Amino acid sequence: MLSGERVLVLGLGDSGLAAARLARLYGAAVTVLDSGGQPRLRERAESLRTAGIATILEWNRRQPRPAADLIVISPGIPPASDLGRLAAEAACPVISELEFGYRFCACPILAVTGSNGKTTTVELLGHCLRRAGLRVAVSGNVGLPLCEAARRSHALDLMVVEVSSFQLERVDRLAPLAAAILNVTPDHLDRHGSMAAYRDCKLRLLQHLADPRDAILRADLAAEPAVQAALHGAASTTFCGHDDGQADWFVSASGDLCRRHADGSPARVVVPSAAIRLPGRHNQENILAALALVERAGRDPAIMAPHLATFPLGPHRLETVACRDGVRFVNDSKATNPDALLCALETLCAGSSGPKVLLLAGGVDKDVSFADMAPTLKRYVKGAFLVGTSRERLAKLWGEVVSCKVYVSFQAAFDAAAAEAVPGDVVLLSPGCASQDMFANYGERGQAFRDLVQRRCGE
Ligand code: ADP
Repeated sequence: MLSGERVLVLGLGDSGLAAARLARLYGAAVTVLDSGGQPRLRERAESLRTAGIATILEWNRRQPRPAADLIVISPGIPPASDLGRLAAEAACPVISELEFGYRFCACPILAVTGSNGKTTTVELLGHCLRRAGLRVAVSGNVGLPLCEAARRSHALDLMVVEVSSFQLERVDRLAPLAAAILNVTPDHLDRHGSMAAYRDCKLRLLQHLADPRDAILRADLAAEPAVQAALHGAASTTFCGHDDGQADWFVSASGDLCRRHADGSPARVVVPSAAIRLPGRHNQENILAALALVERAGRDPAIMAPHLATFPLGPHRLETVACRDGVRFVNDSKATNPDALLCALETLCAGSSGPKVLLLAGGVDKDVSFADMAPTLKRYVKGAFLVGTSRERLAKLWGEVVSCKVYVSFQAAFDAAAAEAVPGDVVLLSPGCASQDMFANYGERGQAFRDLVQRRCGE
């Protein structure tokens, strides 16, 4: 299918590796470029060489550009980098690894994007649909590149794909069977430049849907003029975390997940509240989006209900690490933007009378605003213990409503937060920021928190 074509893959991370292998499988002459030269990349390059794929490491703009008929770019490559500029200046088509994988995916795709909740929603779909007897793979931003998963897609009923905004920067024909945008709240503005550009990137997921109702959107997002314009004014399928009287999918006053019908007949309970174990309004919204996707895939969404109770929330997401002397320690390291942090506070403090959270926050702020968090912080947070490159900025922004202290070391911040906790309090790691200034990734940050809790609680 690609015989005789020269495919140039940019980036030798997991996505690039999978794209290179897929291109080779379909007969292309493949070259991979990466600007790094670490031992791990050298090992990868060697394994590709034996598969007939050329690799050039430590590439920079002064070196020749290999000729190409198609360029496949990995999501982690920033536009301003040497490889990003190579892509921008290329004469041939440039597509993302996601788009490339889509072209070789033999089964229908259910796609999920959004600022928060993507991984939870795709894993939930995979869990419930598999238990309901469907052959499903979960791929994309969640860890298994679509280019890898696509190779086995002939044997599947559905491919559930987590899609990031970076992967959507260069899509062309990508046409999922149905696609959900869970929410669009400030994140990654250091890469996209503005909220409008970030939102427009997410909207690209909808551009080739067969029917506008295959777009599953949170009700507030669906009402935005830019979103209406993208759908040419046609009605999408909407969901809402409360009963707004309009959304197709909503949470009733008693916590049931319901489907409303356009003909005015009474709304139907699809998932009773007793079947839901995941905490928080945000997870109810994630489940609503999943149900809507299943319905648009032509399946009865009620097949999900019996399996929701056995779905385990992933690590580093509102994970209670320990309770000691009446103090609860919660690891929410995956909260890497302000909205996820707000959700953590709302979920942990719902119904509480006064502030009870000792908040460990800060890190790489990705140029997003933290200013409008003040009312929630004031209501729920006793003290903020701030680390990372954003610590001074956050202390200045939040200092008027909550006591803020800054620390150079993560451990010192944790020790100070834990020392101030009294029975009934929650020591919460929910950084609202990325981790790469102090850790390799959010997982390592969450593990550091777990270790500190365990050391303190003597477990
Ligand atoms: P993503 O893959 O989009 O990063 P995750 O499911 O890994 O999303 O969750 C990331 C963080 O966002 C966690 O802290 C989680 O508690 C929070 N979160 C999950 N779903 C939502 C949502 N629908 N709205 C806001 N925050 C959410």
